[in-house]
Amino acid sequence: MNAPQSIDKLSFAQLSLSPAMQANLAQLGYTQMTPIQAASLPLALEGHDLIAQAQTGSGKTAAFALSLLHRLDAERFNVQALVLCPTRELADQVTQELRRLARAADNIKILTLCGGTPMKPQMDSLGFGCHIAVGTPGRVMDHLERGSLDLKSLNTLVLDEADRMLDMGFFDDILTVAKQAPKKRQTLLFSATYPEGIAKLSAQFMREPKEVKLSPAATTQAPSQIRQLAFEVREEERLHAVSQLLAHFRPASTIAFCNTKQQCRDLVDVLQAQGLIAMALHGDLEQRDRDQVLIQFANRSCSVLVATDVAARGLDIAQLECVINVEMTPDMEVHVHRIGRTGRAGAEGLALSLASLDEMGRVGRIEQMLGREFKWQKLEDLQPAAGGPLLPPMDTLQILGGRKEKIRPGDILGALTGEAGFKAEQIGKINITEFHSYVAVSREIAREAVKRLSNGKLKGRKVKVRRMADLVELG
Ligand code: AMP
Repeated sequence: MNAPQSIDKLSFAQLSLSPAMQANLAQLGYTQMTPIQAASLPLALEGHDLIAQAQTGSGKTAAFALSLLHRLDAERFNVQALVLCPTRELADQVTQELRRLARAADNIKILTLCGGTPMKPQMDSLGFGCHIAVGTPGRVMDHLERGSLDLKSLNTLVLDEADRMLDMGFFDDILTVAKQAPKKRQTLLFSATYPEGIAKLSAQFMREPKEVKLSPAATTQAPSQIRQLAFEVREEERLHAVSQLLAHFRPASTIAFCNTKQQCRDLVDVLQAQGLIAMALHGDLEQRDRDQVLIQFANRSCSVLVATDVAARGLDIAQLECVINVEMTPDMEVHVHRIGRTGRAGAEGLALSLASLDEMGRVGRIEQMLGREFKWQKLEDLQPAAGGPLLPPMDTLQILGGRKEKIRPGDILGALTGEAGFKAEQIGKINITEFHSYVAVSREIAREAVKRLSNGKLKGRKVKVRRMADLVELG
């Protein structure tokens, strides 16, 4: 039967997806395709290779996930789809979205293969058989070399945030992985930008890829929603200027981008000395520290995340009011990626750039590329806004006990709103890791919440609870 003319162009109904999948999408509240899904899904479902331009937040994950799930044979326990991602955070997000979408089918095994966690459990899980692997190129290579991962049955290879992977130097790894997969397979490449390496990659192993590009108006973040201001600084006043910007604009949540790890450390010291809650995110952090920083930033108990570009890649943080370029980046694509993190989902974002005289060449090139000039303001005209020191709305408590103890978010919420007597609106995000749980609570009640939780019970047992801030102070 032909689809009637009246069918909504953005409806999932016109795609050749199973009724179970259609029902699952409706249940997830996916009523209409996003622009990237509408442009790429029909082609991908037909089996074409794709090069698609898409940003985080555009619905790109579902665009490739629906396609690879469509082709999957749940009866065959071997890796039929592999998604390569630049970072562990992105790999985790992709896995979550795949799991949500895979609920429509029976028992589909999805594994995340990333560095920073032990090899052995991953090898064991692969040994039990799995349908979809999501991982970072380094760890996937490791598994291929050890023979624990076999790509002989691969139908779909996805490169997610391909530009980021190229920036991180994964060109050769991606090629090696692609060579180990059967020639007759589908390759779906998603990228926010198209640096030269993308064409080189696709020339090496894609089959007549179709290109999917959206007009800027169709993407979720129109650049006009970002207010871009620039400030000239002398080198010696740069770090202090960041605290001036924060005191004036008072954004609840900011990422300050630095070009080096050392600058991250120095800036965090300066901001903390001013009483701000700022945390560094860079490549020298242990995985556990990195996780804790990200949990606190995402649950709004840290005002400023001071990050290098590499460390911040793939982060999907909603509600980011402000991005600060502590230094101008020499790479224009990086600039666009940095400022694109603010002003999401219809909200106006603020992008503040500090530039010394030496950096004016970079500023000029960025203006040229964006076709817009920066709006310059003077630092000395910025007055601190009223309202006391800038503090985040939430504070994070750490509970000793996590997945291993079978603690679930509902248990923690229940303990806080039940016996402890707090209101649900005073409780924020809850994250459970293997050995610890983290709960964001309103800053005013944090100390009291520690007391009441420590005196009460969680799942019928006493638990150790402390404020993350106290932990840091103890060193
Ligand atoms: P992504 O760009 O893949 O990170 O997706 C951004 C968010 O949009 C995710 O939380 C998805 O669950 C959600 N999403 C994806 N597709 C749709 C859709 N068609 N309708 C509503 N939400 C969606």
